[in-house]
Amino acid sequence: MIPKSIIRSLANQDLSVLCEIRDHIEHLISERSKPPLAEELPSNREILEVRMGGSTTYRLERVSCGKNCKGCPHGPYWYGYWREGKKTRSKYIGKNLPIAEIKKVQ
Ligand SMILES: [Zn+2]
Repeated sequence: MIPKSIIRSLANQDLSVLCEIRDHIEHLISERSKPPLAEELPSNREILEVRMGGSTTYRLERVSCGKNCKGCPHGPYWYGYWREGKKTRSKYIGKNLPIAEIKKVQ
């Protein structure tokens, strides 16, 4: 839902400004629907494989838990990374990646 304050201020803009706003919004949408790049993701893990799927970057990683652990590193496990607003979010997927729509890039 568009905040009322934004709707109110848009109503007062000239056509040329509205067009600039539209272009700016299209730019923001295209930036945010791109999957996060390698340099935006955690670099403290061993990465065995990277796949892209839509707006998500999938990585097969070995993870060190940081404790005095004899099992380190753990995995490898798949993680998914995507953008939400300005943040990059991630989720644990597991040992296997459902791949139907994901194309291998690396
Ligand atoms: Zn460990």
